[in-house]
Amino acid sequence: MRCPFCQALDTKVIDSRLHAEGSQIRRRRVCPDCDQRFSTYESAELVMPRIVKSNGQRENFDEDKLRRGLTRALEKRPVSTVQIDACIQRIKRALQSESDKEIESRRIGDHVMRELKALDQVAYVRFASVYRSFGDVTEFIGEIEKLSDD
Ligand SMILES: [Zn+2]
Repeated sequence: MRCPFCQALDTKVIDSRLHAEGSQIRRRRVCPDCDQRFSTYESAELVMPRIVKSNGQRENFDEDKLRRGLTRALEKRPVSTVQIDACIQRIKRALQSESDKEIESRRIGDHVMRELKALDQVAYVRFASVYRSFGDVTEFIGEIEKLSDD
């Protein structure tokens, strides 16, 4: 893999370990030219179902949006990035096992709430009431972002 710092064509793997409950491999690399170190993550590409919003619109599953929502919900809570990664992987696997074509957006919300409940009671209680009044995970995440901006 090309070095992102000096663009040298070859870099060396110096460490390799399982990440996110074994669904990713994290490789630590070093560039022999500039000595910079960096990490790469490898995971099997999961084909996610399309998301059907409450108004009937379809959109692609957006992992970044899910991550932002969870990160915001857990802001200032004692939950690590590794735990959040693992939680995202579990949600993706669960959604995939439900359908490989289309899934209602509220199903994502249900999984998010279940994960929050297991991870952190404060985040769960804080956001369960907000989510229930929306029923659409896109609006829910928007609302989380608003709340944490205050
Ligand atoms: Zn380099």
